[in-house]
Amino acid sequence: MKLSRLGEFGLIERIRRRAPGGRGVRIGIGDDAAWVSHGSGSSLITADLLIEGVHFDLKRTSLFALGYKSLAVNLSDIAAMGGTPAYAILSLGIPGNLDSKRIDEFYRGFNALAKQYDVALIGGDTNVAESIIISVCVIGHPPLRPVCRSGAKVGDDIYVTGTLGDSALGFKLLHKKVTSTNRHSIAQLLERHHKPTPRLAAGAVLARRHLATAMIDVSDGLLQDLGHICGASNTGAVIWNEQLPLSPAYRELAGKEGTVYALSGGEDYELLFCARPRHRKRIEKLKAFAQVKITRIGSCVSADRRITVLDSGGKPLALPIKGHDHFKK
Ligand SMILES: [Mg+2]
Repeated sequence: MKLSRLGEFGLIERIRRRAPGGRGVRIGIGDDAAWVSHGSGSSLITADLLIEGVHFDLKRTSLFALGYKSLAVNLSDIAAMGGTPAYAILSLGIPGNLDSKRIDEFYRGFNALAKQYDVALIGGDTNVAESIIISVCVIGHPPLRPVCRSGAKVGDDIYVTGTLGDSALGFKLLHKKVTSTNRHSIAQLLERHHKPTPRLAAGAVLARRHLATAMIDVSDGLLQDLGHICGASNTGAVIWNEQLPLSPAYRELAGKEGTVYALSGGEDYELLFCARPRHRKRIEKLKAFAQVKITRIGSCVSADRRITVLDSGGKPLALPIKGHDHFKK
């Protein structure tokens, strides 16, 4: 079967079914990070691959931002398990004609974020390649019980951190002519696109207090990633369109496209999680510890109702929208 038909998630499922097992694998392929036990304890491990021309275009991003983002997306996966990142392994494919100063700039971006979260760069590899290829692996410490995607129950509330859609809308506006009046707002959106903030404090506090029943980071779009929670937890979900947290810059610039980017834009790197309704008050009070706002956007329903987005009148929106899949066109 062609990869374009199988899709990214079909491919991952095939790999998962045939993957050799091993001792100490508590959570393997299919969540935000793996969880493995070893001699003295256990670790969370995650990896990501970024390829020039597929994930980024050097005409539209700086090497600094690229370094920053290549680590941020991995830290976001550790956050989604409720863990604390500790070590990174960075491997690079680099075109031979690239100036070494530009690679220094890449490492400056990577190291800036690593220092902020006390992550040590402990190894990796470099090699010559036709375009830039970035492979990052992050190893972290798990909470007592890492939060996986499969723990949501019918009746759970659904929450998201921060705001949605900024990154995707910013990316879209990169290609458009802009007027000076909204240049400042566009810059804010682009900052979110180039330098996403991994929600480590929020993930850790939700896991430590056993408040999140299921969690994922929003990398491929809210609906797509919510679909992963629903699939793993065997629930459906209702999302209230009016409740989606949108930034002032998003509201100013989204125009008639409304919440399209918030629902399926992707690259938000916010945390999407589920929690029991009896914990509402405790979650409302978390803001100070989470270092980001948390918004209740829906609830889990029985699986056969799938994912429905309701408008302010309670009517389902027609949603042909899909999130990101690397192989499907
Ligand atoms: Mg993830």
